[in-house]
Amino acid sequence: GVSTMMRKFDEKNYTWDGVDTLVYKADGSPFKDVTRQVLFDGAFDIPCQFRYFEVKPGGYSTLEYHEHTHMVMIFRGHGQCLLGDEIKDVKVGDFIEIPSHTIHQFRANKGDYVGFLCLVNKDRDKVKLLDDTQMAELMAKPHIKAFLESC
Ligand code: MN
Repeated sequence: GVSTMMRKFDEKNYTWDGVDTLVYKADGSPFKDVTRQVLFDGAFDIPCQFRYFEVKPGGYSTLEYHEHTHMVMIFRGHGQCLLGDEIKDVKVGDFIEIPSHTIHQFRANKGDYVGFLCLVNKDRDKVKLLDDTQMAELMAKPHIKAFLESC
């Protein structure tokens, strides 16, 4: 028979039938109040993962960079995103491409959740954290310092 992969969305809890809500990262990298749901884990002709991440009010994702690209669409709430050396306000429906080697972080710093859908290749490099020199360079920029201290 034909199997279907319909997963109904629970608009109250921002969950999908049969999809586990997981810890965002288990690699010890710094983050606060972020969950991960994997909606799609690749097929032979679409070797990608499609995930939903959710940051609780006051939380933030890991400040990181890597070779692989992200395609992100904000799905819940509003907050801010650091992308390179820019800080952008983000809200539901905004589409964000995070290019290779670009430092990025999402912050739920506007009193609301920030939930986002994120597409990545299944085959991807590991996330890199900033070293002390990179961190000092970022913190030397007042608008970025304010952002990084905003939760
Ligand atoms: Mn990333």
